[in-house]
Amino acid sequence: MQIVTCSKCSSKNRVDEMRLANGEAKCGRCGARLEANTAGSKPLEISDHTFAHEVLAAKGKPVLVDCWAPWCGPCRIIGPVMDELAAEAQGNYRIAKLNVDDNPQTASRFQIASIPTMLIFKDGKLIDRLTGVQPKQTIAERLRVAARTAA
Ligand SMILES: [Zn+2]
Repeated sequence: MQIVTCSKCSSKNRVDEMRLANGEAKCGRCGARLEANTAGSKPLEISDHTFAHEVLAAKGKPVLVDCWAPWCGPCRIIGPVMDELAAEAQGNYRIAKLNVDDNPQTASRFQIASIPTMLIFKDGKLIDRLTGVQPKQTIAERLRVAARTAA
């Protein structure tokens, strides 16, 4: 499921990806056809190799990096929260995911001692970090603050 904001009436709709892809999804309030969200609708998978390009070189908008591993139980709770935040980004921020087992260089560079850890970067600088499972509202608020903060 994905959250799509109606371009006509701005109400938020929870829609099935297949229906969306087939152009069958309609707004629950006004009935307008819903378009798939543009860039940033899904978390971006990053690696040691792409980190500098995707995160450090990103300008203007905050980038949240969810540091996780497949064996980590709490990470599985945060995963769907990241999907929702990415779907609701509307260009205000980007959500990225880094598997710390596969990418030890980046994990050690930012001293990831426990996971999940969420790093928030802006203009190539680490400006905030959250550790452990956090409510979606908390993460969204930190992203709003990050968007207003000069790096
Ligand atoms: Zn609508």
